[in-house]
Amino acid sequence: MNQIEIGKFISSKRKEKGLTQSLLAEKLGVSDRAVSKWENGISMPDYSIITNLCEILDISINELFSGKTIDKKDSEKVLEENLLEMTRLKEEKDKELLRLEYVIGFTSSITFLILIYVASYIEMEIILRIILIVIGSVIFAFGISNALKIEQTAGYYECSKCHHKYIPTYSSVLWSRHMGRTRKMRCPNCNKKCWHKKVIR
Ligand SMILES: [Zn+2]
Repeated sequence: MNQIEIGKFISSKRKEKGLTQSLLAEKLGVSDRAVSKWENGISMPDYSIITNLCEILDISINELFSGKTIDKKDSEKVLEENLLEMTRLKEEKDKELLRLEYVIGFTSSITFLILIYVASYIEMEIILRIILIVIGSVIFAFGISNALKIEQTAGYYECSKCHHKYIPTYSSVLWSRHMGRTRKMRCPNCNKKCWHKKVIR
């Protein structure tokens, strides 16, 4: 999957259909800038409009992701290659997100601790202490809830009993006992409450 090739392909198919960037944008309900970004290989069309885009350009989704017209006889092979590539991209993205979770969790915790320390030990008006504690708590709550949201959605949790892999709800992640990213949750498949490990695939 090559974003530049995909962009060129979208551009050439659009011209074949006699559409301007703004006409295509209008048909899809997106901005001209979005279309221009796809065509320059800067971003990919959102998955929610891909079907529509392919219909308008008269190409298959397989062709869109390949960035070229595909012969019928090769389509199965190309489809498999595209699926593999997408799986690889998702895994990479999930790993990156999980690194980000650490960064967000770490920075918000440290900020919280510093503010609480300052509010407790440095001479200042009581109202300032309260303000610092409130700010610290808000940063902490905001940071941790975002970090948890990332942990919930990136990759999967694997049940230690039946090895079922799934994405749990936010609240079951939030309220579960945990050691690092391993969490005690109820498995939706075997219904047992046990430890679930975070896995990428
Ligand atoms: Zn299970």
